Amino acid sequence: MEVVFVVIIFYVVPASVLLYWIIKAAVRRGIIEAHREMGKHTEADKPKPDSIAKITCIGCQKGFDMDYPKCPHCGHKNPYI
Ligand SMILES: [Zn+2]
Repeated sequence: MEVVFVVIIFYVVPASVLLYWIIKAAVRRGIIEAHREMGKHTEADKPKPDSIAKITCIGCQKGFDMDYPKCPHCGHKNPYI
């Protein structure tokens, strides 16, 4: 009977743990791949940044969206709003 326990402890348990880790890693990789695919799709669906009206800040000469009431870089007031 003792042999059965030894077999279970030294073969079945490590084998199942190993299998568990392999499955977990595979699932995680699958999830990451799925997310990457989703990211690709959402990236494609988003409008290009060039399509958003941009203005150049008077304070720091950096570009920012026309919708912003203030420059996100230096806080200079948007003269077009
Ligand atoms: Zn600025």
